[in-house]
Amino acid sequence: MDENKSARRNFIKLSAMGLGGVAVAPLGSRTKETPILNASANTAGKKLNIVCVGAHPGDPEFGCGGTMAKYSDAGHAVTFLYITRGEASDPSKTFAEMAALRTKEAEVSCKVLNAKPVFAGQIDGNTELNKQKSEEATKLISSEKPDIVFTQWPVDAHPDHQVTGLLALTAWVKSGQQFDLYFYEVNTGVETMAFTPTDFVDITDVRDRKKAAMFAHKTQSPEETYNSYFKPLEDFRGLQASVKAAEAFIHFKAKADRASIIGL
Ligand SMILES: [Zn+2]
Repeated sequence: MDENKSARRNFIKLSAMGLGGVAVAPLGSRTKETPILNASANTAGKKLNIVCVGAHPGDPEFGCGGTMAKYSDAGHAVTFLYITRGEASDPSKTFAEMAALRTKEAEVSCKVLNAKPVFAGQIDGNTELNKQKSEEATKLISSEKPDIVFTQWPVDAHPDHQVTGLLALTAWVKSGQQFDLYFYEVNTGVETMAFTPTDFVDITDVRDRKKAAMFAHKTQSPEETYNSYFKPLEDFRGLQASVKAAEAFIHFKAKADRASIIGL
């Protein structure tokens, strides 16, 4: 059993980096040992279940829409788990009106990325991290039988983003670390903080599709958000990874994987 689990972990680790990911050396330079890998070479024909968890409609798309497009293009199943429906984002509308609008936008956006939308039913601006909500989120995530889960980095100015990151982390712990866990960033500098990436995915080829998915969220001033945050961020992460545009992640590794410092 242990052997299988270990083989599976290694397999998934490679495949998660298999979408043009760059494993970055300690000084941030790409080396011969850490090339950009390609998807088909590492998944060996296995269809992976990818779950991307976000607090609000738009978080998964803005944070990692390019990576998700690459997964779905490679034939893997992508699910977006929205913890809320973004119902509090316009004080001039009722929660029900706003939830309906933003659910529609999420559905359009998911179509662009070939993802399945799932809603956890928490309330925007009032998400909770307690025993009941953790159990609910763990159940929802587990029901998708994920090989990899992406979620928000919890060191973030927005309380809903904090809760979302920790709900997925709890699901990972409760499942016995049965899936690989990656954190993504949104509106870095204003929302996400203290984010030091471990992995980068080249999104140059799917940048326009990601943009279409982001712009489906019409109620969220997508043009302003894109120009102020995500375009410069994709450019900057691209510079770090020596490609035109990239998304960056923190791969949350099990303890055994952490003890691999060269020379020790
Ligand atoms: Zn958000």
